[in-house]
Amino acid sequence: WHLEARGVEVRLGVPLSRVERRSIGANRQYRLRFATGEAIAADGVILATPAFVSAELIGTIDHELAATLREIPYASSAIVSLAFPKEAIAHPLEGHGYLVPRAEHRPVLACTWSSRKWADRAPDDAVLMRVFLGRHGQESLLGGPDDQLIALAQAEIRRMLGIDARPLLSRVHRWPRGMPQYTIGHLDRLATIAHCLEEHPGLLLAGNAYRGVGLPDCIAAGEAAAQGTHQVVTALAPPRAATIDHGTDPRRSPVYG
Ligand SMILES: Cc1cc2nc3c(=O)[nH]c(=O)nc-3n(C[C@H](O)[C@H](O)[C@H](O)COP(=O)(O)OP(=O)(O)OC[C@H]3O[C@@H](n4cnc5c(N)ncnc54)[C@H](O)[C@@H]3O)c2cc1C
Repeated sequence: WHLEARGVEVRLGVPLSRVERRSIGANRQYRLRFATGEAIAADGVILATPAFVSAELIGTIDHELAATLREIPYASSAIVSLAFPKEAIAHPLEGHGYLVPRAEHRPVLACTWSSRKWADRAPDDAVLMRVFLGRHGQESLLGGPDDQLIALAQAEIRRMLGIDARPLLSRVHRWPRGMPQYTIGHLDRLATIAHCLEEHPGLLLAGNAYRGVGLPDCIAAGEAAAQGTHQVVTALAPPRAATIDHGTDPRRSPVYG
């Protein structure tokens, strides 16, 4: 809300369909087309969308950039949350959970003891755990029904923690293509992306696809992109507010400009 208080219009739930390029080096050199049919002319654009989405958005203005973005692979995962009565767990649960290395050849990536890690995640007499399923290249099991994933998660904690109790609660959350994979060649892809972006001043990329998947990395990427955009926009003279146009519909006038 502090942005809106400073005159920034925040619009949520409006998917972007395409980024177009207008005259190079001029003010308002980008036009953003939305799924609603609206368009915005802009000096600067930050795409914080997944790389495969960004590839489609900029596909018409830079084929090489789009192709390189599409090369970044993504893994899907599912999280099974299980709650148990505290008295049903003999394991001391000292710590916050554990990770399972790929060499173990198991479908489980990790198990976190959420109620140990964070306050107020479960009532005092209960324990909440999250079992992470799915690994890049081994995601076929994620297509199964919730019951199957819950059974897998229960088998995991039975084996690792000796918990055989019936859960008080079980929930499945799926994250399709949620985690970019920095596979061999990633740095080369980043170099190509940076090279392509030199042709598009004011167009910047942020998000977890490039230089770190953790939330602090994503925040840093967003801040760097904001600074980069600010530099480009302030170098263009004279500064003006963004303009929204509404395509060819004559009943709708520009909101401001
Ligand atoms: C299961 C799981 C657990 C994780 N746990 C942790 C953790 O414990 N700690 C940690 O630091 N990190 C964790 N991560 C990693 C971290 O959460 C992610 O890397 C980070 O949230 C990604 O942020 P992002 O902004 O790049 O992407 P997203 O949050 O995916 O944002 C991309 C946005 O783009 C929007 N979008 C897509 N298409 C369009 C379009 N056409 N027009 C407009 N908008 C569009 C989407 O709606 C979405 O809001 C976890 C990730 C997963 C999947």
